[in-house]
Amino acid sequence: MICGIDLGTTNSLLGVVEAGFPILLADESGSRLTPSAVSFPQDEAAPPLVGTPALRQRIIHPELTLTSIKRLMGQTTRVGPKHNLPEEISALILGHLKKMGEAAMGQPLTRAVITVPAYFNDSQRAATKRAGELAGFTIERILNEPTAAALAYGLDKLDERSKIAVYDLGGGTFDISILEMRAGVFEVLSTTGDTRLGGDDIDQALLDALILQTGTPPSPAARARLWEAAIAAKHALSSSDSHLLTLPFFDGTRSLEVSLTRTQLEAVARPIIEKTRTHCQRALADARLTPADIHQVILVGGSTRMPLVHQIVADIFGQPPNTSQHPDEAVAMGATIQAGILEGSLRQILLLDVTPLSLGLETFGGLMNVIIPRNTTIPCKAGEMFTNAVPNQPSMLVRVLQGEREMARDNWELGQFAIEFDPGPKGSARVGVQFEIDQNGLLRVLARNTLTQTDRVLEIASTAVDVTDERVESMVSESVAYAIEDMRERIFVEASHKANELLPALDMALAQAGSLIPPDDRERIEAAAAETRAALITGEAARLKAAVTALDHATEQLAAAIVEQAMEASLHRRGLL
Ligand code: AMP
Repeated sequence: MICGIDLGTTNSLLGVVEAGFPILLADESGSRLTPSAVSFPQDEAAPPLVGTPALRQRIIHPELTLTSIKRLMGQTTRVGPKHNLPEEISALILGHLKKMGEAAMGQPLTRAVITVPAYFNDSQRAATKRAGELAGFTIERILNEPTAAALAYGLDKLDERSKIAVYDLGGGTFDISILEMRAGVFEVLSTTGDTRLGGDDIDQALLDALILQTGTPPSPAARARLWEAAIAAKHALSSSDSHLLTLPFFDGTRSLEVSLTRTQLEAVARPIIEKTRTHCQRALADARLTPADIHQVILVGGSTRMPLVHQIVADIFGQPPNTSQHPDEAVAMGATIQAGILEGSLRQILLLDVTPLSLGLETFGGLMNVIIPRNTTIPCKAGEMFTNAVPNQPSMLVRVLQGEREMARDNWELGQFAIEFDPGPKGSARVGVQFEIDQNGLLRVLARNTLTQTDRVLEIASTAVDVTDERVESMVSESVAYAIEDMRERIFVEASHKANELLPALDMALAQAGSLIPPDDRERIEAAAAETRAALITGEAARLKAAVTALDHATEQLAAAIVEQAMEASLHRRGLL
């Protein structure tokens, strides 16, 4: 099993692919985010603390606590009370994640994919790899964070040459990268940013504004409490318009109660977020692109949860950003997906998309005629030839259906259109109907009248996208529940179609054959025809099918006898017999 790791400046996460699904693992407290912090206890014999306990230690012993170690990766400076290299500190964080993952999975985790910023140079990448090895991992791949994010957003399914902007605003850093999809992999066209810009700056600005509002400067302890409350308020204001910040006995006897609105927070945060604009413009210019060339803008980093960030990003790129993923988990999710691809457990899900349900057309008698069965790998193409069922039929209605039921009415209609026939006898028209599903799940139905070379095209977006898992599940389970009834109905419809073709033909043949057939045979044929008519009325599928099979057999013999008779007559006429 290979795990995916986002070794972040503020937080780190670890995930694995289990039963074909990428999942991020949580510690015993249920948290998936482990603060990237390490603290060395005063008691030298005690092991270092990692994560939330280390952050707590920081309040008491800031000199023994290390955060944002990622900023120093690749440098030879020694840090902390034990004069460690940055990668040794990172190794402690990775070791902590490893233990947490092993506890959650109940098995050793020894192989990993780790992400790094796109701008990391060779020595920074090598240091990250060494950190992983020190923690006991074999590093299978060092993956660029924007590429990981694009994988998490499912953008590997975009067309060749699609361009993606990855806007990553975290706690302490801002990165903007422009990627291009080429031959199935993402290439970084440009990357830039500010290693000292992020949510921390917003926290600081909000804290300053709050202190200004409270009047007197708070004590260091009160300041720490206010700081925490400010961060909590910032987070709350990403989803609500106002937040009441209460700190009882905040500064000795003084209690604090401040009502904060999103508008007030945004006034403070705007100048900070606006700083990302020039970086974005720079990244576009470096890639020789304009905002209009960008197909998707995706968001990464906890600070992009702020609605104001959405607004400013939309303004910079002239399009709303894709907000479909958890921005603070996207990189770890992408690393996990990459791990799954490397170990082979995700190839099917990721690279080969399949049709969730069968696609087909309604044919005679209201039956579903499947053209592309469910679970077919896309892109795919399939088709069938249709003809007119009755003489001089002016047109045929093509109803495009999706579902697993035998009767058209029980499936979902995706669209319909009519195709014109040229007047002619039954079976003279030739219409090829082709279903084509492209990489993006877009269904194109082409109906071509091969005699006149006229085409009708119906394009149906998202055959897969708006079909939710629950709807697919209930469609499939319904098809199982109704399998017998459905099959009976299909058999009846098909047999009655055949009966309605055979019976008039038989009447004609019997009249034509006259005394040619022995009375016994005639009786047998007439009995089969009577049985068929009776079964049609009673609606019994199995009975009708048996009767039609007998009738089919009987008419074959009759037809052969008629042909033989005609041949004999012709040979006689020509004096050959
Ligand atoms: P990251 O570096 O991606 O882990 O992002 C951490 C930053 O995201 C911190 O500054 C957090 O305060 C910020 N953050 C996390 N959740 C939210 C939220 N709901 N609204 C605004 N900022 C958030």
